[in-house]
Parts: sequence; structure tokens; C-alpha cells
Amino acid sequence: MIKLRSARLPSTVKQQLASYQRQIDALPSYVARVYAAKDKFEQYNKPNNSTFKQVRQTLEKMCAGIRHCCYCEDSVADEVEHIYPKDLYPEKVFVWSNYAYACGQCNGPKGNHFALISPKGVLTDIARSRNDPVTPPPKGKAALLNPRTEDAFDFLELDLVNTFYFHVIDGLSLKDAQRAKYTLDILRLNKRDYLVKRRRRAYQSYRNDLEAYIQHRDNHESPQLLKIRIAQLRMLGHPTVWREMKRQYQDIPELKALFDNAPEALQW
Ligand SMILES: [Zn+2]
Repeated sequence: MIKLRSARLPSTVKQQLASYQRQIDALPSYVARVYAAKDKFEQYNKPNNSTFKQVRQTLEKMCAGIRHCCYCEDSVADEVEHIYPKDLYPEKVFVWSNYAYACGQCNGPKGNHFALISPKGVLTDIARSRNDPVTPPPKGKAALLNPRTEDAFDFLELDLVNTFYFHVIDGLSLKDAQRAKYTLDILRLNKRDYLVKRRRRAYQSYRNDLEAYIQHRDNHESPQLLKIRIAQLRMLGHPTVWREMKRQYQDIPELKALFDNAPEALQW
């Protein structure tokens, strides 16, 4: 999971979103707001809607490298995702800070699943089932890590030696550990085999590219060409794999040899 860079949404777009939101907020009941949030979002979130065109363009700037999904880091991000689901939080359906760019494989199964976390780390699942009454959720902090404001790297660590699974970092508070585990489970980051395989492949690509860089650097390739190699390495998918390689290199002999040889790569 990637923490999205910040980018400025044009003020005209912000104003239009606020005006869409006022249409929802003006409705007299929560139930009406929930249904209107879904309908209006579907109506406005279209390629020919200039507001959403600019929302998407700005979200694209916030993605790492190529337009990768902020949750799985793998597929192309092409869905405007509500971090707080619009089904539960109609008051956030057109709120810019509630948007992220995700792929269908992440956004679909995440759907309306949502949980709150108490200060003592107790999780409460507030997903609404089909026949549940449409009532507002209780107040509380989201269990899901927020890709707009939080860095999952501070909560999760990737096993680069054996499994290529994410693990909750040791030493977190109970609350943070529960949030990290919830995020991992709800996004199925360890349960999708293809993601695990692609993280492993990304590790090999980063390592091979770093080896190639060292070889060319030692053969006095021009600084311009070396720069292109670095840029290419940084465009490889799964940027968390690269961050983890830099975090863990002291403990993994093949990485230690590479980074000791090219300490400049720790800044990439
Ligand atoms: Zn995804």
C-alpha cells in the first residue's frame, strides 16, 4: 500500500465538489442521503464530467510511478475509491480528501467493508448487510489505514527472504497492530497469489537493475545514461518492495553487498 503524494486540486473543481456535496447534505434523512450519494456519484463520475476528469487527473499525479493502485501497487488505478464508503458516510461522497485511486480488484472486494477502532484497539465491524436497517454508523476512527494521510510502511513489513507476505511490524501499540492487520486482511494483500508472485518478481527486477547500474557505473557509462537507468528502476512496479530493500539491506547478504557497493542507491 502506497501513501499518496499530495497534489493540489484546482479550486474550481473543489467548489464544484462542494456544490455536489451540498445537494446530498441538504436532504432531510440519512436514508435519503445514502441513496442520493450512490445515485449522484454514479451520475457525475463519468468521463465527460469535467470535474471528475480533473479529479482523476489529480489523483493520477498522486500515484507512484506509473498509475498503480494505491492499495495493491500492482494493477492500473482506474476507479475513484472512497476511503470511507459512500454507503455508510454519504457526507463524504464528494469530499476530496476521501478519494484515492484504486483498481477494481481492490475496490470491489473492499466494497462497503469497514470497521472502527477504539483507542484500546477494539475493532467494530460496521459493514451493513443487505437486510440491515440503513442507520448512521457510530462515531469512531477508521481501522483501515488511510493512504492519503498514513504510510503503511510504518505499520507493515514485507518478508523479502521467504514468503513475500506482509507482516505487522513488531512493537506497535495494540491499536496500531489491529489496524495494520485489518488493512492487510480487508485488502487481501497476502491472500492474492498473483500479488505475492509479482512482489517476488519485482524484488528480482530491482536487484537486477541495481546490479546492472553498478556494472555500467564501473564501466564509466555517461552520467546521463546512468540517470536514465535510475529513472527506469524507479518506474518498476511495487515501490514498497524497493523501500523494503533499502530498509532491510543490512540483514540480507545479497542486498548488503549491492548497497555497500552503491550506497547512492539508498537515496533513490
Ligand atoms: Zn489494487
